[in-house]
Amino acid sequence: MDLLKNRILADGQALNENVLKVDSFINHQVDPKLMDVIGKEFAEHYRNKNVTKVVTIESSGIAPATFTALYLDVPLIILKKCSSKTLADDVFQTKVTSFTKNIEYDLTLSKNYVNDNDNVLVIDDFLANGEASFGAINLIKMANANIAGIGILIEKSFQKGYERLVDAGYDVYSLARISKLSDGKIEFLN
Ligand code: 5GP
Repeated sequence: MDLLKNRILADGQALNENVLKVDSFINHQVDPKLMDVIGKEFAEHYRNKNVTKVVTIESSGIAPATFTALYLDVPLIILKKCSSKTLADDVFQTKVTSFTKNIEYDLTLSKNYVNDNDNVLVIDDFLANGEASFGAINLIKMANANIAGIGILIEKSFQKGYERLVDAGYDVYSLARISKLSDGKIEFLN
């Protein structure tokens, strides 16, 4: 998606060869108009897949996933990163290793919101090694629901997440695919 790629080139910052900072329009300050266009794009791409719910991971996936759910006219479910002791019996949980913080956390889904009738679209801001996506997939599988696809804003194609997801048979749609990050330089696959 040219709009997102141009914005990454204008306002993104390659912190090193592995991490892209997009705090000014995705991760800290959010550009709602861009999120609207992104939501429309995901909704168009997955329109004929009979998606019944959109699932994202708090917190940076929420904005684009909200617009996606709006345009698909389905509910949005936010996977929680903190385990909540009061919910323990009513939740599915799986462990995920955070790419940016290098810590392990419990990703949590309430048993109330996804069931075996659901066809779920997962939306996230970044795809690096695929840990977060596979965490979401595990929870959706625990609820016996189907995975319609994985929509990603920024894929770092030089890390292994995309290949892992495609090898596992998932329909991955990334709006911006980065082939290389280096000292202040950002290159795209296509
Ligand atoms: P993965 O789980 O695929 O290894 O990493 C994806 C998750 O880590 C995303 O949900 C995102 O929060 C974070 N992440 C991975 N790489 C980057 C990056 O280069 N920049 C930012 N801002 N977040 C990243």
